[in-house]
Amino acid sequence: MNQVIFLGTGGARVLVFKQLLASGGLWIEQADTHISLDPGPGALVQAAKRKLDPTKLDAIILSHRHLDHSADVNVMTEAMTTGGFNKRGLLLAPRDAYEDDPVLLRYLRDYLKQTLVIEEGGSYQIGDVTVHSPIRHDHPGEVYGFVFESPGCRWSSIADPRYFPALADHSRAAVIVLHTVRLEESDIYHLSIPDAKRLIEAIKPQTAIITHFGMTVWRAKPWEVAERLSQETGIKVIAARDGMRFELPGDQMGED
Ligand SMILES: [Zn+2]
Repeated sequence: MNQVIFLGTGGARVLVFKQLLASGGLWIEQADTHISLDPGPGALVQAAKRKLDPTKLDAIILSHRHLDHSADVNVMTEAMTTGGFNKRGLLLAPRDAYEDDPVLLRYLRDYLKQTLVIEEGGSYQIGDVTVHSPIRHDHPGEVYGFVFESPGCRWSSIADPRYFPALADHSRAAVIVLHTVRLEESDIYHLSIPDAKRLIEAIKPQTAIITHFGMTVWRAKPWEVAERLSQETGIKVIAARDGMRFELPGDQMGED
């Protein structure tokens, strides 16, 4: 079964520090390949709580190096490699996650079978899943969204950058996961609910899932926000909940 498990739906600093919502990112099981996407604070704890075994991970992927997306990358790397005794797995992350002020500790790098730097327009093979990083997002630092593709299954994850029109063209899929930090548009470099609406209307997926809520979305009750978005767009919009498992369609056609 192809599925995404939400190891946390909290985003942005204040809400994450208060742990009003968990912040472990996404656990992906697709085509028998297991991927941790954006293991933020508590990812390992949340995985254990959901009986998900990190020694079965094939890869860890970071959309960017901010702590709400990367704080547990080291402990997840240790777990994936059984403390380095079992050299395996891949880390895929932007260049600035490795260099200068790296989020991945240097002593852990030898534990991994492979470390790859994300390039704009890149495609990476992880088991039977091809991960595309079509376009760099508009955000301080390096940020990428991803399209995950395997035979019969294609979905995309749009990180929490500022909206720009090309985002939609590069994120087309039957299921899209949107990291919506802000309720209203603002000058802050983050995706807002009105941005999500634009993306949903442009992409017209079968299902859109909002997650990674900042305080303003949380106060507005994400499930009510999702319901409003559904009514306004005519497309099924779901607000993720901590621990939610979402079954990805297995019979959709790839669009590449
Ligand atoms: Zn974030």
